[in-house]
Amino acid sequence: MAMPAMIYQVAVNAPVWQLLDYQSEQTLQPGQAVSVELGQRRANGVIIKSIPRSEFKKLKHIAQVYDLPPMPADMVWLLQWCWAYYHHAPGEVAATALPPAMDASAPEPEQWFGLKTEFKASEALDALLETTKRAPKQQELLQVLASVAHSETQLNECLSNWRQPLKRLVEKGWIENVAPPAAPPSRVCPNNPQLRQEQAVAVSSITSRSHQFRSWLLEGVTGSGKTEVYLQAARRILANGRQVLLLVPEIGLTPQTLQRVRQRLGCEVGEYHSGMGDSARRETWRRVAMGELQVVVGTRSAVFLPFTQLGMTALDEEHDASYKQQDGFHYSARDVAIMRAHRLNIPVVLGSATPALESLANVQRKRYSRLELKERHGSETKWELVDVRGLGGAIFSPLAIQAMKDRLKAGEQVMVFLNRRGYAPVHMCGDCGWAANCLRCDSHLTLHMAKQRLICHHCGTEHKQPLVCPSCQHESLIQVGHGTERLEEELTQLFPDTPVHRVDRDRMRSRQAMSELRDKILTGDPCILVGTQMLAKGHDFPQLALVLVVDADQALYSSDFRAPERLGQLLVQVAGRAGRGEKPGKVLIQTRQPEHPILTTLMSGGYPALSKSLLEERRSAELPPYTVQAMVRADALKSDPPRQFLEQALSVLRERAKAKDLEIEIHGPFPAVMERRAGRWRWQLCLQTLQRADMKAFLSNVLPDIRELPQSKNVRWRVDVDPYEL
Ligand code: ADP
Ligand code: ZN
Ligand code: ZN
Repeated sequence: MAMPAMIYQVAVNAPVWQLLDYQSEQTLQPGQAVSVELGQRRANGVIIKSIPRSEFKKLKHIAQVYDLPPMPADMVWLLQWCWAYYHHAPGEVAATALPPAMDASAPEPEQWFGLKTEFKASEALDALLETTKRAPKQQELLQVLASVAHSETQLNECLSNWRQPLKRLVEKGWIENVAPPAAPPSRVCPNNPQLRQEQAVAVSSITSRSHQFRSWLLEGVTGSGKTEVYLQAARRILANGRQVLLLVPEIGLTPQTLQRVRQRLGCEVGEYHSGMGDSARRETWRRVAMGELQVVVGTRSAVFLPFTQLGMTALDEEHDASYKQQDGFHYSARDVAIMRAHRLNIPVVLGSATPALESLANVQRKRYSRLELKERHGSETKWELVDVRGLGGAIFSPLAIQAMKDRLKAGEQVMVFLNRRGYAPVHMCGDCGWAANCLRCDSHLTLHMAKQRLICHHCGTEHKQPLVCPSCQHESLIQVGHGTERLEEELTQLFPDTPVHRVDRDRMRSRQAMSELRDKILTGDPCILVGTQMLAKGHDFPQLALVLVVDADQALYSSDFRAPERLGQLLVQVAGRAGRGEKPGKVLIQTRQPEHPILTTLMSGGYPALSKSLLEERRSAELPPYTVQAMVRADALKSDPPRQFLEQALSVLRERAKAKDLEIEIHGPFPAVMERRAGRWRWQLCLQTLQRADMKAFLSNVLPDIRELPQSKNVRWRVDVDPYEL
């Protein structure tokens, strides 16, 4: 008798709002990754639960069960929480938690090669070396393998083109496949620094009740020893046989963090981010689920890794915008990490020198517990605003030039910061006023001089740099404004005897490039670093004595209510690069608004004063974190449909809010700050409530109707809960 088929509800990766029913003869666990037929195509999905019967007849069979361990039950719970909270399609949420290349078979284990035992005596080996005199490659290999067995990776590291000669030696019966050596006993970690008092307090607070949920805000400037706290707390968690997740805001920071974790924790450490190959990511995912990895260092999406024994999550630079996914499924890795910790009854540590206002408000509300690291390694940094009104088109003020000269003369290093790549942000005609604009975005094209190309920084469109004005044919093209490329040119002219290194995405394409540059900088020789945000994060350059912020003003004009918060965070972070060694650091900030309260508050009281005053402003303006926002975002290739759809949505929302007698503010529809991007017209509606629960209930109630609106078919739309960008 055939086994009756079981029925499973699957979250299928598609913009579908329910779970879909499928059948299978196999007994499958919730959390199992599968592939199913959906219409004419195949889609990946995750089994959420099995049900006794379906209301549908003729269920399709699950087409394929992937060879991956099922996600643990708490992950399945977390996915459900996510789609309920973020109001996003279940299958798209589940897909975020799956590794890429699910079909790939596990990579072949590495082969190890060694010399056959009978040749290990020195006379026997000498004889072999003698016979291979005419085959130097084989001889070299024999010498390498005579001492100790090597893996393929190790051979790659010390020899080139070794496969053919190896084959010959195996055929001759001199070399054989050997078992990999037993894993070295996990090292007891070398030089664990003695924690300072406040670090020790932090570590013991975090780990003393490791079976209780608690969110810790670990506040401390760069260099105050936060990472040291994560590491030593992690050690205690690992000692209890549990796993640790360490989240960093960007891929560029993973190598140095990984290295530190590997050196210090002496356990199996993995990485997970989009800079890795698909099969490597899949392998990390699988090993996490199997409990083979104890620690993972990863970026945003690593928050969904299927840990079975998670004991702690630490999120470094918790204020960083990159923890919020900005398209598709708009989740916040910080908030998801907290929900997961809550579910698992474990601690979560949020570290920052400049905590998000949300997090500070959560401390006020006693939802987070604060831990502070006040002492700083290295010396004091002094800030100064430089008024550049009346400077005309010049980039550097005389004061800044003098300061750079003095520092370089004293044998120190200087950093020049500007958050704009390329040569100049505007390329225009001085005669007729033509300007190079992107045809797909509401933005100018940035001139990249070295490449001789005009590039859109929003959609990536590239054009050849025109030599004459395309409109009036005159040779009258001029560059307005400046980017890092132009700064580099200018600095090279100003300081011809000093090396100038540019650090931005154009120059630092590989890890290799950045690590080579790091080595150069660490020699301590005087030099100028010029670059973008990329310079601001994480790197430790002890000889850096002066930081010059070329232009702080753009953020002061922004219409986004979060702009001042971000400016404060960025300036503090950039400034934190100076004075990390013995020498006192100095930060110069060029501005045309030296009296602006944001800047003056920052000068006088630092980030604590700025964040305090910004929080007060937010409270009186009834903005987050004292209210809860959600955006309905819509875009399309034509300009009308997004607006029309949102107008329809607006009337449904208004009607329902009135019927429910709910206090909810609804603004819009209004166009996005950049209305057209990559050829799509973007509009949005903003909703605001006082209580989180109200927003969630209201959206759950009303969204099914909005999904049915006729205009919804003409646009791409989604909800962004707790939006981070206007
Ligand atoms: P953060 O993460 O806050 O930037 P780190 O943990 O990276 O700070 O610490 C900065 C530097 O100080 C590192 O080189 C680290 O090894 C060192 N350090 C941190 N804590 C101690 C300590 N208790 N004793 C000695 N050195 C320490
Ligand atoms: Zn012209
Ligand atoms: Zn563009």
